[in-house]
Amino acid sequence: MKKKTILYNKKEECCGCMACYAVCPQKAIDIVIDEEGFEYPLINCEKCVGCGICLKVCPIKS
Ligand code: SF4
Ligand code: SF4
Repeated sequence: MKKKTILYNKKEECCGCMACYAVCPQKAIDIVIDEEGFEYPLINCEKCVGCGICLKVCPIKS
């Protein structure tokens, strides 16, 4: 079973920079807009291969 990639646990842990979205080689990250109009990334588990590149570019995690 492939490892599930978690970008953030709470939305507060994401600043919406979209670096992860831009870098994903599988185009597995979708942009969704919440009720406050804030755009944030959501991983499509069907397409994600668990490479972890998105986590490496995330400024919140590094
Ligand atoms: S782990 Fe890799 S494939 Fe999955 S969302 Fe991140 S960059 Fe894309
Ligand atoms: S790279 Fe990190 S902070 Fe930037 S949009 Fe993705 S999860 Fe949010």
